[in-house]
Amino acid sequence: MFGPGGIPGAVTHGSNRRGRRAPEYTCWSGMHSRCTNQKLEAYKYYGGRGISVCAAWKDFSQFLADMGPRPSPAHSIERLDNDGNYEPGNCVWATREVQSKNKRPRAVKTTCAAGHELSGENLYSRPDGKRGCRACRRRNMRDFYARQSQEVASERR
Ligand SMILES: [Zn+2]
Repeated sequence: MFGPGGIPGAVTHGSNRRGRRAPEYTCWSGMHSRCTNQKLEAYKYYGGRGISVCAAWKDFSQFLADMGPRPSPAHSIERLDNDGNYEPGNCVWATREVQSKNKRPRAVKTTCAAGHELSGENLYSRPDGKRGCRACRRRNMRDFYARQSQEVASERR
């Protein structure tokens, strides 16, 4: 059980069930809410996206044991993989600057590496979910078959 003395320094005198919650408890509780409470605005970014809290962390004391005390009030819980769950190995205490950097959506590229416009007819969805360039794919295919026919030709020689 979590309580005074469990984590030295994290709980000051009077912080118990009746008093102020440990700061880690607030983070822990918020993490669960974001994943389970559909009424929350933030739910769509967490539970609504399939993000969940691992079974072990349903227990606050286990969560605290894995994460350790929060380094400072500026720190909150951050998932390293934004599509990953709240679980040991994917979570760290991070400051807001680090978080907003991680959460900033990656700029959507408007052109491919070769400079073709990634829009309209030229844009297609690759099997791996990435945005592909048809012009490059055509060129790659052409190169591929060109190489192949060269190899066939050289074998026949
Ligand atoms: Zn291209």
